[in-house]
Amino acid sequence: MDVRPLVAGNWKMNGLETSLAELTSLGKKLKDHPFDMADVMICPPATLIARAHDMLAGTAIALGGQDCHTAESGAHTGDISAEMLADAGADAVIVGHSERRADHGETDALIAEKAAAAHRAGLTAIICVGETEKERRDGITLAIVGEQLEGSLPDGVDGDNTVIAYEPVWAIGTGLTPTIEDVEEVHRFIRGHLTEKLGNKGESVRILYGGSVKPSNAAELLAVPEVNGALVGGASLKADDFYGILATY
Ligand code: PEP
Repeated sequence: MDVRPLVAGNWKMNGLETSLAELTSLGKKLKDHPFDMADVMICPPATLIARAHDMLAGTAIALGGQDCHTAESGAHTGDISAEMLADAGADAVIVGHSERRADHGETDALIAEKAAAAHRAGLTAIICVGETEKERRDGITLAIVGEQLEGSLPDGVDGDNTVIAYEPVWAIGTGLTPTIEDVEEVHRFIRGHLTEKLGNKGESVRILYGGSVKPSNAAELLAVPEVNGALVGGASLKADDFYGILATY
């Protein structure tokens, strides 16, 4: 099935008000060089979403959060609900990023609950999965990714409300990437898992590759079968780099 790609940028804990100039610059580039090959999204820190939303009105750049709580509201100091992200102008939220799995001990079950919360708020859940370096060395990549998918997907997943991001942990922020063959193997495995679980609905769920994507390697990675776009960290912080990735489509 032909699936419209998505290229999403994850700013992580980077970005002050001054960084919004990069969004203006990206919006201008997309206006000057109309681009309709993929959906485009930026996930800035939650503090910037409302301002980014105002700035991006009329552009084709969607916005996402980087995490959400499972509850709609309540006594959860420091947390942000999916409803609050939606209220600020987000269209989506990343859940289960490996940095949250590692730094906050997030489990597959919690991630499934967060993805369900995203759906409840009308947001697309971008659910991240991926093996560590040791797991790849031990030859258990597919088993790990299968287990994460099995545990992290809530009920009711379809191509409109969910995106899967395959992000090998050892490739994030390291400049390393898997071989093209390895990327294809994991993406085909994820597609197989989705169709087995969801039937036809599994065909339309986008599967993004993430891990050290940059303008110089994007064309090769984005052309891999079953790679329906990218989740980009470091290279999403500068409009020129992010646009350079989009321009490879
Ligand atoms: C990420 O954090 O989701 C990511 C893919 O980071 P980077 O592109 O910097 O490897």
